Amino acid sequence: MQAFLDALLVVAAAALAAIGWGAIRLRRRLVRSERDRRRAADELNRRLSELFSLQELSYILSGSLQLDHIVEQVVRYAMRFLEAQGALVALTVEGEPLRVTAAEGTLAALAGRAVPANDQGLVARSLGRERLEIVHAASGAPTHLLEDVATDSAAAVPLRAHGVVVGTLVIANPGHGALGPEDTRLLSTVATHAAIVIANARFFQMVQHAKEQWETAFDALSEGIAVVDDHGRITRSNRALAAMLGSTIPAVIGCDLSEALLGSSAALLELLAAARQGDRVQPVVLRSATLHRTIRFNAARIPAPAPPPGNDQSVVVLVEDVTDQQALEAQLIQSEKLAAVGQLVSGVAHELNNPLTSIAGLSEFLLEQKELGTKDRDHLRVIHEQADRAGRIVRNLLTFARKGGGPAERALVDLNDVIGRTLLLMSYDLKLQDVAVEKDLAPLPPVLGDRHALQQVVVNLLTNAAQAAAANQPGRPRIIRLTTWFDDRVRFRVADSGPGIPDDVLPHLFTPFFTTKEPGQGTGLGLSITYSIMEAHGGRITVERPAGGEGGAAFLVDLPAARAEAPRTETLDVKRAILLVDDDPAARRMVKALFARDGHTVEVARNAQHALELLRSRTYDLILADAQARVNEHLFVERLAESHPALKDRILVATGAVTSADATLARLGLRPVRKPFNLRDLRDAAARVWGAGARAGAGAGAAGP
Ligand code: ADP
Repeated sequence: MQAFLDALLVVAAAALAAIGWGAIRLRRRLVRSERDRRRAADELNRRLSELFSLQELSYILSGSLQLDHIVEQVVRYAMRFLEAQGALVALTVEGEPLRVTAAEGTLAALAGRAVPANDQGLVARSLGRERLEIVHAASGAPTHLLEDVATDSAAAVPLRAHGVVVGTLVIANPGHGALGPEDTRLLSTVATHAAIVIANARFFQMVQHAKEQWETAFDALSEGIAVVDDHGRITRSNRALAAMLGSTIPAVIGCDLSEALLGSSAALLELLAAARQGDRVQPVVLRSATLHRTIRFNAARIPAPAPPPGNDQSVVVLVEDVTDQQALEAQLIQSEKLAAVGQLVSGVAHELNNPLTSIAGLSEFLLEQKELGTKDRDHLRVIHEQADRAGRIVRNLLTFARKGGGPAERALVDLNDVIGRTLLLMSYDLKLQDVAVEKDLAPLPPVLGDRHALQQVVVNLLTNAAQAAAANQPGRPRIIRLTTWFDDRVRFRVADSGPGIPDDVLPHLFTPFFTTKEPGQGTGLGLSITYSIMEAHGGRITVERPAGGEGGAAFLVDLPAARAEAPRTETLDVKRAILLVDDDPAARRMVKALFARDGHTVEVARNAQHALELLRSRTYDLILADAQARVNEHLFVERLAESHPALKDRILVATGAVTSADATLARLGLRPVRKPFNLRDLRDAAARVWGAGARAGAGAGAAGP
């Protein structure tokens, strides 16, 4: 029994021992699993905290496109994650050395430093590495971040985005001494994330910069640019367009482009529609009645990547103010046209001059003969009037061709006298047209100017007035009223009872070649020439239209009164010796007939050479020479003025065509007499020569070679 009990005890003890052992093992297992669980929980916590930190960083980074802010945050978080003593980010910039863009902790002093390409430190070196590089303190020697900056241990990771290295992230002395696999993973994750955000921020900077550049250019352009939507409303405008509209950029946004610039314009709407379709459009030039400008429009569709159907299709519109450019072009064309016409005219006029001069001169001469029958006299008067009229046309054309150059006489002129003479000249024409002239001429001080040019002014204004009055229906009076008066200026008004000047004609009145008259009735030169003559005399011409559409027009000219005393015109009955140098037989005949009748002697030189020979042996009171006469390729008058300077005051040069001779005459200071001349012109010109001679104290006929 005892033995049994002992055995039982042994068994029990053994069983107990077995149970105790199992319990111990169980307990041990339990302890181990508790440790594992704790470790796992720690790990989990750590991972979670990393994740939250990464999320936080990611949130901060994605919330900003400011490069500086981004790199600062990357540096700060990297330092915090790895409990490092310092961190830095160095970025590459094309064409520049690597630069420390942000630095914290023990590396803070390095912020802003450039890293030379040949620097052997970890910062520069890491750029060329594929992945993270860790340098442990345990390796003995200090770790060089830059050649002159060392630390115990460090890690560097290149920042790579889209296959391009944008910089490097470096941390110094991480908290755990050595970096574990989790640390390196974390650092790599931060680096990958940071690289993408940095690259994006750089793209953003580039786009921003390009946008700023583009906007600056957009606003610097002198042409207006607008982006308009489907409905033609301005969605963007540059400064020039806003200025064109007299407004500001914010104020023009939302306005209808066509309405704002042109009032409604079908042509512009068509252009926009065509551009919207993607057609290549031809620019259109349109006149803006609201802005009083001429504007050229061009438009193009703004390519949209893939517009959903019904989406707005904007077009960009170029708005150019071409008013001045057009005016310049027109002026250029005009002046080219004028130059060509001028040449043509002067050539033709030259050919017409001599025959006209003879017809007018000789018919006038014949009219002065007493023994003429009445009928013949009437015929002759018509011949004379018509030749005179033709002469006036030629003179107008010549003045036009000469515009801006050529010698102009300056003498004291009584405008009333010019008006009186012109009326005499035109009396036949006026009578034919059944136009009555009423005069109210007050005494005037003389004006200083070219008598012929001023006469042309009177002729042109009277001709227009007569034509206007003659256009009246029968029953309406045909009257021209001429008024002169003097206040601070010498003034002359020509008013007619004609139909008046329509609104659309008014702006073109003084434009050369503008005429509303039938071919043969008007050349369109009268008022433009009148304008130039007035300008050359320091005068003005203005047009008046009676209010209330009664018809009738009035032209008003005003001139400054001359201050000097009038030159005395020789009227004494002195017999003169005259030398005539002109190879046109008709001109010779007329001049001879005229001066011979006044008792003067006229000697005719066969040619210019002969004239020079005559001048060697004789003295003359007047040398009347054709401007074109030549001695051995030289202008005769030029030769004469040079070889006989004392005779200069007695030379009268007959000029017709516009030639380079005009400039020569002006240079030499010789008196011109314009062909075609009539008897009065010639007498007046000669009298002025003799008058000047008398004033200068040179005795008549006393000059010698
Ligand atoms: P032209 O008389 O040869 O046509 P002008 O330069 O003298 O050339 O005149 C230009 C235009 O001005 C004329 O064609 C005419 O339409 C207008 N005009 C000039 N004077 C008058 C006037 N007195 N009444 C009405 N219209 C006039």
